[in-house]
Amino acid sequence: MTDAPSPVLDHLVGGYRRFRASGWVTNRERWNRLSEGQQPQVMIISCSDSRVDPSQIFDVDPGEMFVVRNVAALVPPFETTPGHHGVSAALEFAVQVLKVKEIVVMGHGMCGGCRAALTQELRGTEPGEGGFVADWIALLDEAREPVAHAHGIEGRAAEREMELAAVKVSLKNLMTFPCIRRKVRDGDLTLRGAFFAISDGLLHLLDEKTGEFTPIS
Ligand SMILES: [Zn+2]
Repeated sequence: MTDAPSPVLDHLVGGYRRFRASGWVTNRERWNRLSEGQQPQVMIISCSDSRVDPSQIFDVDPGEMFVVRNVAALVPPFETTPGHHGVSAALEFAVQVLKVKEIVVMGHGMCGGCRAALTQELRGTEPGEGGFVADWIALLDEAREPVAHAHGIEGRAAEREMELAAVKVSLKNLMTFPCIRRKVRDGDLTLRGAFFAISDGLLHLLDEKTGEFTPIS
């Protein structure tokens, strides 16, 4: 910790003061209720990218969405290998304890993680020097092959195909979790794919039957 002046922290504190003066006061009853517990109906898997904040895009109130954000909005497959399975822990809590009704995987345009998966520019780097990201986005290696084959590894057409394919990878991996598979089968849980195009601000939803992402009008 440091007491050095920080324009970044000042900016955050300024925002916090506005929140306390407006957002918190007007929603005080809601916050009181939320202090007793949360009952979100939906879980969102989104990218850590600063441009795709789910609560901003979906304009929801506190308590409405259980959110996991990580590089490229990825869900790893069900794994019991040693390690710290953060996404799996969040999924387990959302599905088994909160009993969310829907899980939405939201990819996005201009995703740096997906681009790196496509170019493989971080491959072989050390942990802390790109290696953690390289290892994480290796989850997309299989999906990358047909994209790279059809579109190459550079340019927006190839990148967008990789971004859309990544959403499908996460949806597929969600179904490797026995508790999720069971709930989907029983009709207690729905999985959805979405894509937020940063350039035009349009949200697309995946049509499970056609495999196409269609913009919401
Ligand atoms: Zn991203």
